[in-house]
Amino acid sequence: MAVNESMIQDIVKEVMARMQISAESTGKHGVFNDMNDAIAAAKKAQAVVKRMSMDQREKILTCIRRKTKENAEVLARMAVDETGMGNVGDKILKHHLVADNTPGTEDITTTAWSGDRGLTLIEMGPFGVIGAITPCTNPSETVLCNSIGMIAGGNTVVFNPHPGAIKTSIYAINLVNEASLEAGGPDNIACTVQKPTLETSNIMMKHKDIPLIAATGGPGVVTAVLSSGKRGIGAGAGNPPALVDITADVRKAARDIVNGCTFDNNLPCIAEKEIVAVDPVVDELVHYMVEENGCYIIDKEQQDALTAVVLKGGKLNRKCVGRDAKTLLGMIGVDVPSNIRCIIFEGEKEHPLIAEELMMPILGIVRAKDFDDAVEKAVWLEHGNRHSAHIHSKNIDNITKYAKAIDTAILVKNAPSYAALGFGGEGFCTFTIASRTGEGLTSASTFTKRRRCVMSDSLCIR
Ligand code: NAD
Repeated sequence: MAVNESMIQDIVKEVMARMQISAESTGKHGVFNDMNDAIAAAKKAQAVVKRMSMDQREKILTCIRRKTKENAEVLARMAVDETGMGNVGDKILKHHLVADNTPGTEDITTTAWSGDRGLTLIEMGPFGVIGAITPCTNPSETVLCNSIGMIAGGNTVVFNPHPGAIKTSIYAINLVNEASLEAGGPDNIACTVQKPTLETSNIMMKHKDIPLIAATGGPGVVTAVLSSGKRGIGAGAGNPPALVDITADVRKAARDIVNGCTFDNNLPCIAEKEIVAVDPVVDELVHYMVEENGCYIIDKEQQDALTAVVLKGGKLNRKCVGRDAKTLLGMIGVDVPSNIRCIIFEGEKEHPLIAEELMMPILGIVRAKDFDDAVEKAVWLEHGNRHSAHIHSKNIDNITKYAKAIDTAILVKNAPSYAALGFGGEGFCTFTIASRTGEGLTSASTFTKRRRCVMSDSLCIR
């Protein structure tokens, strides 16, 4: 092929543009000082990704999965150090879960209608560059899980991570780009800024090259994204109740609930945040929680002291989020052995330590007079988030009634909450549960747009 003057000019322009972007980058793959540069770089990378075969995309994902496992411990330690939240062992498990159970390109499927008038396909195509906002509670897990799903769908992604977990988030974003380069893909397949702020988030939300925003976090960020004028996937807050009815295996329910509640010090949005139990099982449940599962009962005075610390001035005290039970009790001058995993007490549903989403191993137990009363109280406690709820029951009618009443994206029956993430339960893993906007557990297909491809009067070969 002969190279003419205009081709040379195009190549020079391309090289200059790349040099400018790399000059403004920060030494780490995908990390920029300016949000506009991050978006521009991700756009260039997306132009490459969208031309790749599914097989090539899958090679990148395989490499991301491998690096996630290799770096699980580093990421877990870094997140605990940086945020002061959660525990290393559980965070390692969460990274393995992301690597093993997040769907890849197999989630991108085609629907076909074939008949006398030809062949019509619905194909899932990329949006382009997706803007993603991520929380400090599962920082690298969300970055890696979002990256796998979004890249599987043919997109690239620009993150505006939580500033309190930026080091961990940048480490994960760098890994995604290293994986892409190793697998023969482009750099900047996932991008971010060195210092994410509300301003960089606003730039992202308003940018013409960002057609879709996926927000994982509390109510504020989801509302901001849904007001942006862009298509938004809103994965918001929860306050999951665990209901225990009269037919439950109470001993197992106690074990499952405490295991779910204490996983990563209660940081996952799906984790049990309070219990509603019918009157006849409450005492037995408390017995097993204390005797076999490391729970510590606090009295009224201790509840008041804990409320004053945890909800200081009526606001969630970030210094308490994701701390273990021993540390939390230490904050109110109660010294317990380190095998104490969870703080419990009985209270009314309006008790602030029960009604608020705390993200720490404190489980208030609300006594209900019968099953209908328990459902009513649990629905009230979920606050209409439509996020997650759990039940321990062997009565299918009761389970069905609860499922319809609470109407959540996730309902786990007779297991710890983390079964919903595919950990001891069937199904895939995600760290972005689109409770507010209704997509539910997100995966690669969530990050694609449907396109109808019609061939009239041909290609039906039946
Ligand atoms: P957070 O709401 O404080 O922050 C989440 C992200 O949103 C961060 O990146 C933050 O910088 C950004 N943000 C906050 N307010 C914003 C605004 N007005 N405009 C733009 N960006 C904004 O939440 P967090 O403490 O990091 O995480 C815990 C919360 O997230 C809990 O409520 C938990 O239930 C929820 N969560 C939900 C899911 C889910 O899948 N549904 C997953 C994890 C966490």
